Amino acid sequence: MLNIVLFGPPGAGKGTQSENIISKYNLTHLSTGDLFRKHLGEGTELGKLARKYMDEGRLVPDEVVISMVDDKIANTPETNGFIFDGFPRTVAQAEALDRLMEKNNIKISGMIALDVAEDILKERIRERGKTSGRTDDQDESKIETRIRVYLDETLPVAEYYEKQGKFTKINGVGTIEGIFADITKVIDQY
Ligand code: AMP
Repeated sequence: MLNIVLFGPPGAGKGTQSENIISKYNLTHLSTGDLFRKHLGEGTELGKLARKYMDEGRLVPDEVVISMVDDKIANTPETNGFIFDGFPRTVAQAEALDRLMEKNNIKISGMIALDVAEDILKERIRERGKTSGRTDDQDESKIETRIRVYLDETLPVAEYYEKQGKFTKINGVGTIEGIFADITKVIDQY
């Protein structure tokens, strides 16, 4: 089984590359941002709870995210593996994911981090905001908050995987195909 954490700041290209990885390796996409947006669209209690954090570009509390991921893994019985996209975003989430993996007798194969400079990220997010319909992509202060939250709370997650010898950084600037080719080189060594 391949279980890959695709890591990087908002706007790094995780969603785009996830799609490529999923079709090549036949994996299950587990994007916590997408799951929250689905709940939001369906008006569930979880969606209502998540909205106030998402609207401000802040992180939804760990226990809420973790139980949603637990649920998704439990309800995906037959799969070649998962692409974790936008999760884990805190060290507590990474620890919880390790426990969830153990409970299901599976392992994280590795983390692939997409490296993109901050000015390019902001430009990409603004561009995406023109068509994504995401309010958090359209407001400068929300974009700033999301990048700051990434640097303060999410970046330590990279170190968590580095300590386990599971971390690979890839240049996230270039053509989609070129970046994907670099990603496949890493995955093919798992
Ligand atoms: P994303 O689509 O990954 O950029 O996520 C959009 C928003 O959903 C984030 O700004 C957070 O408010 C929330 N979110 C998504 N994933 C997580 C996570 N793993 N932990 C906490 N909040 C999350």
